[in-house]
Amino acid sequence: MTREKSVLDIPSYRVLGFGVHALDMPTALRACDALIRSGRPSMVLTADASALVIASEDAEFAEILSSGDLVTPDSEGVVWALRRAGCPQPTRVTGCDLMGELCSLSADQGYRIFLLGAEPGTAELAAEKLRLRYPGVHIVGTRHGYFPASDDAVVAQEIAESKPDILFVAMGIPRQEKFLRQNAERIGYRLGMGVGGSFDVYSGRVKRAPRLIRALKLEWLWRTLSNPKKFAKAKTLPVFAWRVLRSKRDASRRGS
Ligand code: UDP
Repeated sequence: MTREKSVLDIPSYRVLGFGVHALDMPTALRACDALIRSGRPSMVLTADASALVIASEDAEFAEILSSGDLVTPDSEGVVWALRRAGCPQPTRVTGCDLMGELCSLSADQGYRIFLLGAEPGTAELAAEKLRLRYPGVHIVGTRHGYFPASDDAVVAQEIAESKPDILFVAMGIPRQEKFLRQNAERIGYRLGMGVGGSFDVYSGRVKRAPRLIRALKLEWLWRTLSNPKKFAKAKTLPVFAWRVLRSKRDASRRGS
C-alpha cells in the first residue's frame, strides 16, 4: 500500500486508475484559494462516474484528469468507489456546489469570475441570479458555449480581455476540460473548472431535484428521467460499477 501526499497535501485514492481527492467542501475551498494565490493556471476537475469512464477511453482527457490540481468526488458513485478504495469517510463535493462557494469567495476576495458555456442567454441569467445570491460576487463576463472548436482561440482571446481569475466552463465533459487546458496560457486564468450543467441550474432553467430525492441520493435518477439526453450518461453507470468491482482494493489506495 503506497502512501503519497498530493501537492495540496490532501489525500487521494485511485478510482479506475485516476487519483480522486478525499476532502470536504471547506477543504476544497481552501485548496482552491491556495491555487488561485499560487498565480499559475490551475485546474479543478469534478469527477463523476461518467467522467472516469470517458477518461478510460479518451487519452487527452485522461492526461488532463491525471494532472488536475484538484479532483473532487462529484457523484455518489465515485463516493462509493472511494469507500471501496479504503477512504474512511468520503464526502461528495459537486462542481455545482463548489461553484457557489467560489462565488462567495469571489465576493470576499474580489476574485474575477468569467462564465463560459450553456445555451445563449443562460450564462447571463445565471450571472444575474448569482449576483443576487452572493452579493459582491465579481462576475466580469459571460459567453454562451455553442461555437465550433475552430473558434476556440478567438473565444479564448475574448475571455482573456476580461482578465478572469476564475473561469467556469459549462460545455459538458470532456469538451470543457479540453478548452480549459488548451487555452490556459492564452487566457491566463488562475483557476479553471468545468461545471457541466451548473449554469442551467443557477439560471433556474433546470430545476434541482426536490429535497427528498436529493436526500435519498437519487438526484442522478431524477435528472435522467427529466432529460432524455442524460440517458447516454446513465449508461456509463453500470460500466463504472463493474470496473470498480473488478479493481483490486489494495491496488487502489494511493493517499496519505
Ligand atoms: N453545452 C455547451 N456547448 C455545447 C454542448 C453543450 O455549452 O456544444 C452546454 C449545455 O447547454 C449544458 C452543458 O453544456 O449547459 C452540459 O451540461 P450537462 O448537464 O450535459 O453536463 P454534465 O454535467 O453532464 O457533463
